Amino acid sequence: MIVIDGHCDALLKMYEDPSLDFFSSGPSGLDVTYPRMCRSNIKVQFFAIYLSERIKNPRFDHYLEYADLFHRTIAAGGRVRPIKTRRDLEAVMNGPERGALLTLEGADALQGNPLYLRTLYQLGVRLIGTTWNYANWAADGVLEPRQAGFTRQGKSFIKQCNELGIVLDASHLSVRAFWDLAECSNKPFVATHSNSKAVCGHPRNLDDDQIRELIRIGGRIGLTFVPWFVAAQGASITGLLKHIDHILSLGGAGALTLGSDFDGIDRWIPQLEHAGQFDRLALELYKRYPDDIVEGILHANWHSFLMEQLPA
Ligand SMILES: [Zn+2]
Repeated sequence: MIVIDGHCDALLKMYEDPSLDFFSSGPSGLDVTYPRMCRSNIKVQFFAIYLSERIKNPRFDHYLEYADLFHRTIAAGGRVRPIKTRRDLEAVMNGPERGALLTLEGADALQGNPLYLRTLYQLGVRLIGTTWNYANWAADGVLEPRQAGFTRQGKSFIKQCNELGIVLDASHLSVRAFWDLAECSNKPFVATHSNSKAVCGHPRNLDDDQIRELIRIGGRIGLTFVPWFVAAQGASITGLLKHIDHILSLGGAGALTLGSDFDGIDRWIPQLEHAGQFDRLALELYKRYPDDIVEGILHANWHSFLMEQLPA
């Protein structure tokens, strides 16, 4: 089993509590740790810079602090390599290192400043979700009552990300903002941690038109383990398979990936409670789907997408 996981919030927990040890093999307070990455053979884990809602005035400094934390802890010591290029990706897929891809969830503090955006790129950020659940200078999030799309400045931000080689993440966008992104982006985009709204009617999930669009453009959909995005009640691995069945029925075999949201949740799907338990999911997948579909979901679809989108 090889796994690539497109979303976690371990950096948030480590930022809030600097005593948490990513490399600890004991109880660490983290869902995603290095020993668990090894146990599940997670070759690449995406790590989001996500500022707690407690921070009322997000500043660019906060992003720098997160990026600094990432490089000083997770990516220090030679066991975990930051994934900035295709070469980094190939090195981790074919060698003993683990890979860590730095992302940003909520671009509030970028304030449309291209210097800030380029600086994040230099620090290794390769994917950005423009909003969290609410509105900012660029777009409306999925829980913003106004439900508007991208602003003029936000549309220019899409172009800048396209040019720099930063993938855009639609997971928290309002439906209107999703379609603005579809119209403005000249590169495929993704939803790193969202399930199917037809299967579980949560606003954070994707409707069938959104799923078809992501499939059509060669984007990716990261199945997420947030219990209330899996089922209104009684989330289970079996419940997650219903989302897979549905997305496969829309032609999504090449688009399905993983985006656990570990460390961003305080309830878990039973048997899928931390990053060391991907084998339980894999077991159920192999029982139900052909090997090539399972491998696509577990790693191959993220791998092929990153090989297309990362710089050489
Ligand atoms: Zn999120």
